[in-house]
Amino acid sequence: MWEECKKLQEELVRMRRELHQIPEVGDVLPKTRAYVEGKLKEYGIPFTENSHDSGLIAVIKGGKPGKTLALRADMDALPITEENEVDYKSRHEGAMHACGHDTHMAMLLGAAKVLNEHKDELCGSVKLFFQTNEEGSRGAERMVNDGCMDDVDAVFGTHIGCILSKDLPSGTVVAVPGCCMASFDKFVIKVKGIGCHGSTPEKGVDPINIAAHIVINLQEVLAREIAAVKPAVLTIGKFNAGVAYNVIPSEVVIEGTIRALEEDVRQELAKRIGEISKATAETFRGSAEYEMIWGAPPVVNDAKMAELAADSARDVLGNDMVVDHIAAPNMGGEDFAYYLMKKPGAFMFLSSADPKKHTDVPHHNPRFNVDEDVLWEGSAVFVRIAERFLAGKQ
Ligand SMILES: [Zn+2]
Ligand SMILES: [Zn+2]
Repeated sequence: MWEECKKLQEELVRMRRELHQIPEVGDVLPKTRAYVEGKLKEYGIPFTENSHDSGLIAVIKGGKPGKTLALRADMDALPITEENEVDYKSRHEGAMHACGHDTHMAMLLGAAKVLNEHKDELCGSVKLFFQTNEEGSRGAERMVNDGCMDDVDAVFGTHIGCILSKDLPSGTVVAVPGCCMASFDKFVIKVKGIGCHGSTPEKGVDPINIAAHIVINLQEVLAREIAAVKPAVLTIGKFNAGVAYNVIPSEVVIEGTIRALEEDVRQELAKRIGEISKATAETFRGSAEYEMIWGAPPVVNDAKMAELAADSARDVLGNDMVVDHIAAPNMGGEDFAYYLMKKPGAFMFLSSADPKKHTDVPHHNPRFNVDEDVLWEGSAVFVRIAERFLAGKQ
């Protein structure tokens, strides 16, 4: 069945390029949804629209009873202005598919077409999740809360590009057991002092001085409180303070992100950021307000499902193009984690990094692009996973 995806290659490239030209950001993606729905109608696959956003769920019901498999694509783009000079360049000013989600939709539509043509042979059903707002880590969570995983036995998804390494040859599939990506959360600390003249700091409370201590103190959590064998990142990427060289301001706002591979580490970091910020501010006569804006949990693959994904990829691509173990997970995040919290499954990576084609540029860069030659592979691996999973060969 999966071999038929090779014949779809041209159609996949066409769909990807059409989607690439109409990137939309966030939850409301009317043109993107209309495009996906148009293709599903063309293929004769029924779907239901999400009520809270532009996501949708399509279902291919097999001819015989069996399990239910879910395959997922994300639909959202980024608020970036494209700098690639290609004839399929983004037509939406200030928006770009700079993370490759256009290819995810195309690859899933390709797989859907083939699976639907063979639905009478399938034991069970395949659900297709087209979700919004992966970049804001809200789309998957909302679909899970609406019950999309309730009747699902296993879930699979893929990310294209060079997330793990730009040195993995284009076309390589990575499917590993356990944690493959980190949690990603944002925090905001408002440090409050009392503004005054720069010449008389004793008459006020200097929030810049306090905030500087907070920045240093927060790193001590990683150095002294989290075990060295448990990877974690705490980065402060924004520090807004002051208006003039001789004025002590009243407030400083710090924003940062934490990444962790285990939920207990994630929770400990979040707790200590609040405690240390408040205690440091009070030590120096100020105060601090702290807010955690939760993103997605760590992406943790089920060992058996990761093996099934790797075996399926080996069927399609041969042993040399499949990686089933990596030295270290990626500290980036993915809201696919929400599906995996409900049911077993695996999140895969499909490398499209080729320096000769300039497709080894990092994700979220205005010159990000993919090696389109790998698109059929993504569809074929999805189809092969469905064949294996619904046949009960696990
Ligand atoms: Zn991204
Ligand atoms: Zn992405």
